[in-house]
Amino acid sequence: MIIILKQEIDQQELDNLMTWLTNMGLEIHMSEGANTTIMGLVGDTSTVDINLLQALDCVADVKRIQEPFKKANRKFHPQDTVITLKTNAPVTSHAAARSSQAAEDFAPAPNSNSSQSIEAKIGGGHFMVIAGPCSVESPEQISAIAAAVKGSGATALRGGAFKPRTSPYAFQGMQAEGIELLKEARRATGLPIVTEIMDLQQLAYFDDVDVIQVGARNMQNFVLLRELGKINKPILLKRGFAATIEELLMSAEYLMAGGNEQVILCERGVRTFEPLTRNTLDLSAIPIIKELSHLPVVVDPSHATGVARYVRPMSLAAVAAGADGLLIEVHNSPQTALCDGQQSITPKQFDSLAKDIAAMRIAIGQCSGQ
Ligand code: PEP
Ligand code: MN
Repeated sequence: MIIILKQEIDQQELDNLMTWLTNMGLEIHMSEGANTTIMGLVGDTSTVDINLLQALDCVADVKRIQEPFKKANRKFHPQDTVITLKTNAPVTSHAAARSSQAAEDFAPAPNSNSSQSIEAKIGGGHFMVIAGPCSVESPEQISAIAAAVKGSGATALRGGAFKPRTSPYAFQGMQAEGIELLKEARRATGLPIVTEIMDLQQLAYFDDVDVIQVGARNMQNFVLLRELGKINKPILLKRGFAATIEELLMSAEYLMAGGNEQVILCERGVRTFEPLTRNTLDLSAIPIIKELSHLPVVVDPSHATGVARYVRPMSLAAVAAGADGLLIEVHNSPQTALCDGQQSITPKQFDSLAKDIAAMRIAIGQCSGQ
């Protein structure tokens, strides 16, 4: 961190500043130029309040050299984080054989009748396709979609049980019952399940969920993040619609600071002036996050665009930009869906997209296609 001092300063105030910084364990290197005096701070500056420094009378400007996030920072953890989801294979398989010969890492276990456990990985070259309806609506709906997406090569099933809806009059999700139905779908397909938590009071329902999603609206719910930082379960953290990349990484830091290092970041678009899409997908966030952090990044083209026909091109663009996975809304009857039907693709469209994703991964040299 660098502090640029004003030209005419009160010596007493400068002494106080230096004592304060030294007491924080920081080393100070003064550099006096003809017009400017600069203080270089060496040590752990992550706890220094930059706004407080900026407000001091003797300070002209403050610049961070090091990012404020540590555990999520690639500088201190150069290798990609790989997160593994494990479930028991189904006793009986309702899923058809995979129709798309995708890359090995987004292929479910080839023999889904065996009792071996199923592993799905993300990060470090492993690609994860998370698919399912916006909300779980009925046993028939979730089991049909789960079987279909598994047959097409999805490696995780996502469905909302607790739904954050803009209107209090809209369908709020099947809640605890929805989670039970997801578990049933997992038993039938072996796919790990991903579902959103909205409030800490719901945590007990998530004991047997494989990945807990924190939605865009809760990205900066620091109380929730702190509690989820104490548990040993992967968290899918979605970017808030007005959040910077650094703010997303700082929210990941909340989870990691508590000891939970299994964080998957999700780019789902940010709100801009553009009305033709629900949000604007920030594709450049993918290489930027991958440069700054070792955590895996998935892209959600469904919430990013809000339009089913844009899901395919944006999925392929996300793969090309280096995403580690995709989160795609799939519904067997989008026109009657209780939530987000307009952006949901059908199982048939998903099957075709899964093949294109695999082809794109081969085209960019992300996997050999063997
Ligand atoms: C969702 O994933 O169902 C959802 C509500 O998305 P977001 O939090 O990105 O708006
Ligand atoms: Mn949705």
